Amino acid sequence: MPIDVPWPPRAPSLPAVVTRSAVHLLAPNATAWTYEGTNSWLLGIPGRSGCLVVDPGTQEPRHLDAILTTARSRGWTVAGILVTHNHDDHAPGAPELRRATGAPVYAYDAAIADVVLADGDRIRVEGLDVEVLHTPGHSADSVSFWLPRERSVLTGDTILGRRASALFGSLADFLTSADRLRALSREEPVTLLPGHGPPLPDATAVIDRVVEVRHRRLDEVARLVEAGVTEIGPLTDTIYPGVDDLRRPAAEHAVRAALDHLIGAPVAPVHQH
Ligand SMILES: [Zn+2]
Repeated sequence: MPIDVPWPPRAPSLPAVVTRSAVHLLAPNATAWTYEGTNSWLLGIPGRSGCLVVDPGTQEPRHLDAILTTARSRGWTVAGILVTHNHDDHAPGAPELRRATGAPVYAYDAAIADVVLADGDRIRVEGLDVEVLHTPGHSADSVSFWLPRERSVLTGDTILGRRASALFGSLADFLTSADRLRALSREEPVTLLPGHGPPLPDATAVIDRVVEVRHRRLDEVARLVEAGVTEIGPLTDTIYPGVDDLRRPAAEHAVRAALDHLIGAPVAPVHQH
C-alpha cells in the first residue's frame, strides 16, 4: 500500500491513517534529538472495539488527549500500551495513559512494564497480531513490533525514517538487529513505521542505507587506527567534524562502539539521558 502522509505533518497530534491498521500522531516534543518529534501510533482494526498505542511519547496532556480522542472517534478503547524502548521521548506518556485507560504497559524494560516483553512474544488482541522482535543497538531494551498480516514493522529508534539513529548499545547488536529486520522483507516489501521521521513503503532500502553508513564509519575508524589515531577524542573530531556539544557524547560513543567492534571487545551500554 503506498503511503500518502504529508511529512512533516502540518501540526503535532493530528491523526493520519498510514496503513490499514496504523494511525499516526506526531508528539509535540520536537528537539535536536527527536527531529520533528516522536511518532506515536494507534494500531487497530476498523470495526473492532480496542486498539494498541505504541510509544505515547511525552506526557503532554494535549497529546495524550489527542490519542484518546482519536481512539474514541474510531470506536476503540485502549487495550494495551506498547513502548519500543525506555527513553525520555518514547516512554513517559505510558504511565499517564495507563492511569487514564487502565490498559497495561508492554515493554522489554521491566522498570516500566506491566507485561515484560521477550523476543518472539505475540500480542494478539482485537484482531491484531503483533510479534515482538528484540532489536538492541540503539538501546539494550529496544524492541520492534512486526505486523505480519499487513507486513509493516514499528522499529522505534532502531531504524529511523530518514537518518541513522544514535548508537547507545553495541555495534554488533545493531548489525544483528538490522539483519533481522531486513530479513522480514526477503519475499515482499515491508512498510517501515519508525520512531522518528516519515513512514516509508520499503524498509529494506532504509535499513541498507543505515547499515552502509555504519560500515563506512567502521572503515574510517579502522583506517585512522592504522594511521596511529587511537584516542576517542581525535577519532571523533575527524569522523564527526563540527559535531555540536549536544551530540558529542553520542558521537564519542559511536566511535567507541566502532573501536570495540574492531577489536572484538564488548562495549558497555549507556543510557541516553
Ligand atoms: Zn526517540
